[in-house]
Amino acid sequence: MPNIAFHDGEYVRLEDAKVGIMTHALHYGTGAFEGIRGNWNERDGKMYIFKLREHYERMLAGAKLLWIDVPYSPEELCEITAQVVERSGFRSDVYIRPMAFKREEKVANLNLRSLGDGFFCLAVPFGDYIESDGALNCCVASYRRIDDTMIPARFKLNGLYLNSILAKTDAMASGFDEAIMLSQDGHVCEGTGENIFLVYGDRIVTPTLESNVLPGITREVVMELAREELETEVEERLIDRSELYVADEVFLTGTAAHVQGVGTVDHRPVGGGGTGPLTKQLQDLYFGIVRGNNPKYAHMCTTVAPRVTAG
Ligand code: PMP
Repeated sequence: MPNIAFHDGEYVRLEDAKVGIMTHALHYGTGAFEGIRGNWNERDGKMYIFKLREHYERMLAGAKLLWIDVPYSPEELCEITAQVVERSGFRSDVYIRPMAFKREEKVANLNLRSLGDGFFCLAVPFGDYIESDGALNCCVASYRRIDDTMIPARFKLNGLYLNSILAKTDAMASGFDEAIMLSQDGHVCEGTGENIFLVYGDRIVTPTLESNVLPGITREVVMELAREELETEVEERLIDRSELYVADEVFLTGTAAHVQGVGTVDHRPVGGGGTGPLTKQLQDLYFGIVRGNNPKYAHMCTTVAPRVTAG
């Protein structure tokens, strides 16, 4: 079955969805995108797309900031995504990438309001984001997380990701799985594509949104699960770097990374050095929900049945 994308208002084969080399977003990173997961449930024969609408609400907010006009409502965007997944007939986990971007083919123009817009949505098969047998080995990045006064940090804006990419590349070149970024004032911020939580005994803490973190959708869900299922309020506060070395547990959350325990930070073991018990509890709850195996939270997923080819 062909991999189908939505591009320029039409459903087309992924290999036929192209942009030119003059495209503004290619030169300057002028786009707002999302990363969404569809999790395949073999028993139901259905794809469970997690928090679909919330992703589009964040993308539309980012697009607004960049003066990108998206001619679709959140409902229409959800329907387009379901169609892409259905028409491609995927029967395994997928990563969905919608993007609203400055598609005008005009170089040397830095005025967003004079540039035309485009939108696409594609989906590709996708397994683990961070390949690791267990808890992650992380370092603290030498690159600081970009500040909201430089580029708005609350949205997934394309150009913003150079910051994460530099930190992630350096971390991996040094043998780590992931980098933890600090904010300009030196407080713990987040991973390069994940939010971060620290556990002390039965207390869970995470950086405030004002620490320049991306308001993660998984972050929000984990906070809800801690409250509802573990009867623990997650405390949002400024976190010092040194706390990373003395926490009982540290874990990262994100659409691509799911809920991942951190085993070491800067070579120092976190707690026992593996995935901690509280992290494991949240991880199990989360995986049950995103795969459609927890009826209590069924409202968090949009289900799509893949189209079956005739014959
Ligand atoms: N921070 C950054 C920088 C990210 O790119 C992501 C991934 N979208 C996250 C945090 C986690 O956000 P979410 O849970 O919405 O995927």
